[in-house]
Order: sequence, then structure tokens, then C-alpha cells
Amino acid sequence: MSATANIPSFSSIQPGIVVTPLLEFRNVQIVYDNAIEAIRDVSLAVPKGNIVALLGSNGAGKSTLLKAMSGVLYTEEGKLESGSIQFKGENIHHLSPDVIVRKGVVQVPEGRRVFASLTVDENLQMGGFLCSAAEFKVRRDRVFELFPRLAERRQQIAGYMSGGEQQMLAIGRALMTEPVALALDEPSLGLAPLVIDRIYDVVARLRKELGLTVLLVEQNAQRALDIADHAYILENGRIVLDGSAQSLSRNADVQEFYLGMSGAARKSLREVKHYKRRKRWLS
Ligand code: ATP
Repeated sequence: MSATANIPSFSSIQPGIVVTPLLEFRNVQIVYDNAIEAIRDVSLAVPKGNIVALLGSNGAGKSTLLKAMSGVLYTEEGKLESGSIQFKGENIHHLSPDVIVRKGVVQVPEGRRVFASLTVDENLQMGGFLCSAAEFKVRRDRVFELFPRLAERRQQIAGYMSGGEQQMLAIGRALMTEPVALALDEPSLGLAPLVIDRIYDVVARLRKELGLTVLLVEQNAQRALDIADHAYILENGRIVLDGSAQSLSRNADVQEFYLGMSGAARKSLREVKHYKRRKRWLS
């Protein structure tokens, strides 16, 4: 396990085999309003067909990285000051959001932003507006097969559905674009355990059956580590730890700060500034 991820290595996944990442952040530095440094020299790599988890507490910078990947940082006066974001070896950080989606990099934003006044069907149509009628039907049927609840509620106004159903719809709408790499921003946020199970089952199926590559951003470290191949931990805009999901699950610091296995209430490093392990963790 490496302490920092400036040179991403996936030898921990497949010893001796160098895996070229499908999606890669290289030494990324991001500021807001030309003043607030949100991300400092972050590198992370997502190999094809893998699920890579990006874990961190509130304000660590997880959403900022996804916004940069999706080309929407500028809407919040954010700017990628240095470094690059690459998809299939090509820089994408300077591209517009629609071009990035057409390339196959799609994000399901935090807070399951569905079109609240539209029906389930209409939301899926918005996601599939670039495809032909025949493709649309195939993709929508697949979404309904993955999420039968959406099929039952096709005519329902999205804004009146439960949080879990809206999350399913947000993922379904993203799938209508037929993504190659899908980034999920806190899909479990505010959902009941059984609903989270259903959503995580679908994420696992998407990888297994469709070979989808997934960047999974979560505060819910336990869930994410259960499903991921590799994980990175982000704190205060920096990667402080990365490794295989299995090795991170066994790591004492991760257990204490992220998995709530210390016997005490769950703490983040922010809340335990003076904790003696902090220095070692951050070094
Ligand atoms: P959360 O889990 O709460 O969404 P996060 O890990 O996604 O947190 P970000 O939202 O990326 O964190 O925020 C990272 C840092 O950037 C924080 O210090 C935050 O205050 C700051 N930040 C985020 N958005 C903006 C913005 N639009 N303008 C200025 N600063 C921002």
C-alpha cells in the first residue's frame, strides 16, 4: 500500500502486470475563486472494468474532483490550475460537459438531481436524447430490468418519488447515455440500508455484466470497500492513502477513522486533530 498516489500503481491488483488506467487524474490542483485551494496534487487512476472508491469526509474535495472530470467546475468559479484529467490517454479537463459525456464519461451527481417535474419516462428520455429510437428502447429496457421499480413507476412525477427511487432514476438516466466510465457521487447518502443494498447490487452487476468502469465517491466507506477493487482516501484536498480495497479494510487507521471499529463514535481525522496517529497518517 502506498502512502500517496502521485504515481498510480496497480501492481497491488495484478502483481507484475501494468494496467493502463481508463480514467486518470494526474497531479491535479484545483482552486475556487482564484483563492481557495480545494485540491492539492491529487493523482488517481481508474483501470478499465474496475470499481475504484474515493473516500473522504465532508469537504475533503471529492465532489470537486468529479466536477473537474465532468467539465462543470467553471460554473462554481473553480479552475484546474495544474495537472490533467485523462480518459483513454487523452486530456479531457479542458472539454465542455457535453463533449465529455459523448466520450463516455458520465457522472451521477450528489443529491440525485433528477428533473423533479418530469415523469420517470421523460427523465430517461432526457438521458437518451442522443440515441436512435431503437437504441433508446434497448437502453430503457435494460434500465427497467436493473431497476424494476422504475418500470412500475414510469408515469410517476420524479419529484414525488422516494429518495431511493430518485437515486435509481438518476443512475438510470446516466445509463441511458451508455457510459464507458460512470462516476457516482455518494449514491448511498440519506438512504435506508435495504435501498443502499439494491443500488450497490446494481453497481456490481453493471461492472460484472457490462464491464462498466466505476469511480465511486463515498463517505460510506464500509459499503464502498465491500464492492471496490481499489480505494483512495482524500483528506483536505490530498490523497493520504491508497491501496486495494481489501488492504484498506484491514488498515488500522481506516478501521478507526472510517469504519467506526474503534469502539468509540465514528471520527474523521478533522475531528481528531491532535490524535497521535494523525501525523503518521498525513506524512
Ligand atoms: P461533501 O462530502 O460534503 O460533498 P466533498 O468531499 O465533496 O464534501 P467538496 O464539496 O469538493 O468536498 O469541497 C472541497 C473544498 O472546496 C471544501 O473546503 C469546500 O468548502 C470548497 N468548495 C467547494 N465548492 C466550492 C465553491 N463553489 N466555492 C468555494 N469553495 C468551494
